[in-house]
Amino acid sequence: MALIGSCICGEVHYEIRDQPLFVHACHCADCQRYSGSAFVILLGVAEADFEIEGNISTVTNPTPSGSGYDAHACSKCATVIWNKYHFVELPIIAVRGGTLNDPTLAPPTYHIFTRSKQPWFELPDDAIAFDGWLDSSQVWSPETLKKMEEMAKGA
Ligand SMILES: [Zn+2]
Ligand SMILES: [Zn+2]
Repeated sequence: MALIGSCICGEVHYEIRDQPLFVHACHCADCQRYSGSAFVILLGVAEADFEIEGNISTVTNPTPSGSGYDAHACSKCATVIWNKYHFVELPIIAVRGGTLNDPTLAPPTYHIFTRSKQPWFELPDDAIAFDGWLDSSQVWSPETLKKMEEMAKGA
């Protein structure tokens, strides 16, 4: 199943050629500020599985830890399509779930930084939630861990 997406003006199109490695909702204060919303859905995607078409502008933004990330946006309409976090050593990017043509195809399977979650937003009773950063051994599938291991070897 290939996931496809685009920016709001249609200049940028992308395709994700394999299952995302993970899909999470981040409720941290920075994601709220940057998106203007209550949380951001991020798809972990291997760079090799990501095909992009259209003109992209990149800016580097800070993170609380100081390592920063590059935000990649459509150069025309400024829709941010994906982030590349500098602390992530593997060739993995974080694609913004809301830019998928059909976001229902990639719902978040867990929530992170729920300590700064907006109080009016109720997580489902069965949701997996982390107060801060995630514990990958709890939420990443064996396939994902295996693929990351292979990426680390190839890197
Ligand atoms: Zn655009
Ligand atoms: Zn965040």
